[in-house]
Amino acid sequence: MSFSEFSLIKQYFDRGHVKRKDVKLGIGDDCALLEIPQGQQLAVTVDTMVENVHFLATVSAKDLAWKSIAVNLSDLAAIGAEPTWLTLALTLPETRSEWLNEFSSSFFEYADHYGLQLIGGDTCRGPLSITIQAMGFVPIDSGLKRSGANPGDLIFVTGSLGDAGLGLEIASGQCDIECCDDQRFLLERFNRPTPRVAVGIALRRLATSAIDLSDGLAGDLQHILTASGVGAEIDLDKLPLSTALLAQCDFDSAMGFAVASGDDYELCFTVAEDNLEQLGQVMKGTGCDYGIIGRITGSGGLTYTHNNQIYDKTFSGYRHFQADATNDDETNG
Ligand code: ADP
Ligand code: MG
Repeated sequence: MSFSEFSLIKQYFDRGHVKRKDVKLGIGDDCALLEIPQGQQLAVTVDTMVENVHFLATVSAKDLAWKSIAVNLSDLAAIGAEPTWLTLALTLPETRSEWLNEFSSSFFEYADHYGLQLIGGDTCRGPLSITIQAMGFVPIDSGLKRSGANPGDLIFVTGSLGDAGLGLEIASGQCDIECCDDQRFLLERFNRPTPRVAVGIALRRLATSAIDLSDGLAGDLQHILTASGVGAEIDLDKLPLSTALLAQCDFDSAMGFAVASGDDYELCFTVAEDNLEQLGQVMKGTGCDYGIIGRITGSGGLTYTHNNQIYDKTFSGYRHFQADATNDDETNG
């Protein structure tokens, strides 16, 4: 490592406020040394974000730091782990102090909020990419897997679906929204997803399966169905949609975003019907909205209904502009 990399790490990344007791050796040596409490298992996940592949070149350093951590915490949430430690591998095209200042201050603001300690990483030169590894604890044998869904289980999602899909269209300049509040909300949902950490923890030993929605409900729920060897029926009228998404889309395009577009980082999980009351009790403590969207079936793949009829249109994420609804020239909407 060159002196400049060493001073860069010292200046921007060896400055976290969280000092956890289970970190016996943190940044600065060849490895970190960590202690896992008795009775706990270590949950580990890693995600790479590459410019122009996973994020737009126009994204702010602050939003990028936030989202890079959030997508990893979302994976920990999906398995029911309590986040503890992070590593950060950063590839930078150049050393821009303003960018590094914003990135690292947002990084630690967010990490501090979750009591996470940055315990090491790697720094090198090249096209901008950010790899974060997040670790956490889950009591032995109580991690939530994709493989436990049973026929008859109810299917739930947290929060609202599709906002990030429309947020991406706004952020990439593919559509323009007149309502500033809606625009702000949708961009925030895209740039700063909320990982459902408390929900994951609350669902331990209660949910029969869980997954976080990074690639869209259709694809991600299919992972549960494949791993569990079951099918599912989704009632599209029950999908939770934000007022912003509803204000900007007609039904078919709202469904396109909600079912087929990614980046929402909500949780999708299944619970046996007998445990509905217990679910209500534990979810109350999380303060997170959630709702039933369907049911696990014995077979039959993944089917959708709308107004109690089979819905077999293809889901596509494009949007019907409200203003265009009255425009006779509208051809593709
Ligand atoms: P090595 O050459 O042994 O791999 P490095 O020179 O890459 O070590 O890093 C020196 C120390 O700084 C290590 O403890 C490493 O974990 C830490 N580190 C390097 N880059 C980062 C970073 N971006 N964020 C946090 N810690 C980092
Ligand atoms: Mg190294």
